[in-house]
Amino acid sequence: MSNEMKCIGCGATLQSTDQSKPGYVPNSSLNKEDVICKRCFRLKHYNEIQDVHLTSDDFLTMLNALSDKDGIIVNVIDVFDFQGSWINGLKRIVGNKKVIIAANKMDLLPKLINKRRVKLWIEKQAKDLGMKADDVVLISAQKNHGIDELLESIETHREGKDVYVVGTTNVGKSTLINKLIETSVGEKNVITTSHFPGTTLDLIDIPLDEHSFMYDTPGIIQAHQMTHYVSDKELKVIMPKDEIKPRNFQLNEGQTLFLGGLVRVDYLTGGRRSLNCFVSNMLNIHRTKQENAESLWHRQIGELLTPPGTKDFDFDNVKRTTLSIKEDKQDIIISGLGFITVEKGAVIEVYAPKQVDVYLRPSIL
Ligand code: GDP
Repeated sequence: MSNEMKCIGCGATLQSTDQSKPGYVPNSSLNKEDVICKRCFRLKHYNEIQDVHLTSDDFLTMLNALSDKDGIIVNVIDVFDFQGSWINGLKRIVGNKKVIIAANKMDLLPKLINKRRVKLWIEKQAKDLGMKADDVVLISAQKNHGIDELLESIETHREGKDVYVVGTTNVGKSTLINKLIETSVGEKNVITTSHFPGTTLDLIDIPLDEHSFMYDTPGIIQAHQMTHYVSDKELKVIMPKDEIKPRNFQLNEGQTLFLGGLVRVDYLTGGRRSLNCFVSNMLNIHRTKQENAESLWHRQIGELLTPPGTKDFDFDNVKRTTLSIKEDKQDIIISGLGFITVEKGAVIEVYAPKQVDVYLRPSIL
């Protein structure tokens, strides 16, 4: 584009290169008059939110602007990747505001899981990260579970104030907002946008009553999640869609598990024991001997060991993390991919792409 054109809906500069960034329109619409971006189009005609993803600078500006507002925060997190979906700096914007944690994607955890325990676990995790939650509501935005309970909690806590919904990308914030709109609004064209100081983007307002609104804020891209290092096709394989069926492997020392070809897990020491894998049911797990692992990985990447779907895998970009399980039961998190539950006493080495976070947490189960 030679001269910059702006969306007449939200004011974002129009572009046709990246659908996930503000102001996207298909190339064919760029030179028309009075163009609105795809996001405003969906909003206007379908009351449907499409999430726009911000880089960290824009996101920080937005967070700072939020910290001056009066209202309550609904923080959407992914139960499957709690830390990975945590917003650094959230505490600062929260200040004295009340916070409700909407723990999404509950449908992925085993149905028999103790929900009370999960709630306490989330409260504790949040507290360890420096934040006291006023309520934790377990939801599945996709399956429509817990939405009424969340709306009730919002009503109880907001005391007439505005509500800001925050979350990182991929936690399911757009899916949730669309459900909330469906449930609480119903009618078309009541949704508007409002300008947010200092950001390239306007927030979406959903009216709650005559004086207050719920605001959808953009999500920040989490570069440390596996989801950013695979193609769209591979993403369908690694993003769990249904209740995860844990796959339990009895391993001897010196055995290796491959999660597709993306992650290699070497079980080093700790006697015979089980490694319980919570990853997408569609992701292939392959067991082998540690001594064969390196050559197998190079030979079979993109074939026996998929995803990736091709041999095109950057082995130089792989990082090794050694983890020693010292507490009773811990989850090894591979951010954006899933987790492996292991009992105390094991030493495990995980190979994963450098940018992807690998760490231990107390087990959610
Ligand atoms: P956003 O980036 O936070 O706005 O996330 P989206 O709403 O676009 O959702 C990200 C991905 O998570 C999509 O593939 C959704 O289908 C999926 N998703 C959203 N909510 C749920 C849920 O409750 N359960 C499951 N299993 N997947 C969900």
